Amino acid sequence: MMRLSLLGNGVSSIMNVARMLGVLAMVSTAALAAAADQSAPIAIAIHGGAGTILRSDLTPELEAQYRATLAQALDSGYAVLKAGGSSLDAVEASVRVMEDSPLFNAGKGAVFSHDGKNELDAAIMDGSTLAAGAIAGVTIVKNPITLARRVMDSSPHVLLIGAGAEAFARTQPIELVDPAYFHTERRWQQLQILLEKEKAGGAKGATGLSEDADQSKARKQSYHFTAQENRFGTVGAVALDSKGHLAAATSTGGMTNKRWGRVGDAPVIGAGTYANALCAVSATGHGEYFIRAAVAHDICARVEYLKQPLAEAASAVVKDKLVKLGGEGGIIAVDAQGNVTLPFNSTGMYRASINQKGERVIAIYAD
Ligand code: ASP
Repeated sequence: MMRLSLLGNGVSSIMNVARMLGVLAMVSTAALAAAADQSAPIAIAIHGGAGTILRSDLTPELEAQYRATLAQALDSGYAVLKAGGSSLDAVEASVRVMEDSPLFNAGKGAVFSHDGKNELDAAIMDGSTLAAGAIAGVTIVKNPITLARRVMDSSPHVLLIGAGAEAFARTQPIELVDPAYFHTERRWQQLQILLEKEKAGGAKGATGLSEDADQSKARKQSYHFTAQENRFGTVGAVALDSKGHLAAATSTGGMTNKRWGRVGDAPVIGAGTYANALCAVSATGHGEYFIRAAVAHDICARVEYLKQPLAEAASAVVKDKLVKLGGEGGIIAVDAQGNVTLPFNSTGMYRASINQKGERVIAIYAD
C-alpha cells in the first residue's frame, strides 16, 4: 500500500512539475505509463535444487560460486521484469543462466543416466493463459527451457519426448550441441559411485525383471541413495510481471542412474511445474513423489479453492503431504500479489528471491 501511494505521489509530482513548467505536452505518455507501471508489484524466485546440503559439504569457494550464480540468475530475470517484460521471459532468462552453469543439474551440469547419457527434461507455463510447453529425454539441446518455450509458442502440443522432441528442435531457431557438451567429470564420477553401489547391492541384469525380493529392495535402496547423493540440483524460476501475469519454469537432468526412459516431475505440468492466474510453482526433489502428490497444482488449487494464503498452501503440501509420502525436496512459489515462499523439507535448497517489497534473499541452508 505504502509503495503504491508513494509511487502514486511520484506520478502526480511528475504531473505537477510538468504543469508548473508549462511543458505538460512534452511529458510523453510513455514516460507516464512507465512511472505508473512501476507501481504494479513484480516478484521473482529461483531455485537450484534441494537435498542433503550441509555446510560441511561446501568449501567456502564452492559456496561463493553457488551464491554468485544464483545472484546472476535472479538478477537476469528481475531485470526483465523491471523493464516491463513478461514473467515468461523472466523465468526463461533466469533458468538459462543456471542451465549454462556446470554447478546445477540442468543443461551443462546435468546428471548421467544409467546408460551414461544426459537426458534433459524441462517445462514452462504461462499462468495468464494456462498455455504450457514441456520436453523430456532430450540430449542435444543446450537450453532445454527454451525448447519447452518453443513447444508452447510454436507447436500445437504441450509435451514432446526423446527423438520427436529433437526432430522438433531441429526446426526451431535454438542452439543445438553435441551430447558430449553435457559431460562433466563431477557428474560422471557420481554415476560411477552409484553403479558400484548398485553392483554391491546385487541388482541383476539391465531390466531387474529377474530380481528376487532382496535384490529388488537393494535396488530401491540404491535408488533412494541416488536421491541423497546427487543432491538434486534441478533449477527453476517463478515470476510475477507488472501486468499481473504469473509464469513458472523448471529444467533438470533428472536423477543420476535413472533408466528405462524415466521422466521425473519437472516436465509434468501440475507436478513439478504449474502456473495459473493466482499462483506459480516450480519444484525440486525426488520426482516420483512430486508426481504422485501433484505438488505444483495442489498448491495452486489450495490457493484457488480453499483461499489459503500462498505460504500456508505451499507448506501444507511440502511439509505435510510430501513428508507423509516420504518425498524429499522443496518448491518456490509466487502469488498474484508478489508474495514469495520457498519451503523445503530437506536439509537445504539453493534458492533466491526478490518479493513485491523488493526484499532480496539468497540462501542455501535451512537457517
Ligand atoms: N525433480 C527432479 C526429478 O525427479 C530431480 C531434482 O529436483 O533434482 O527429475
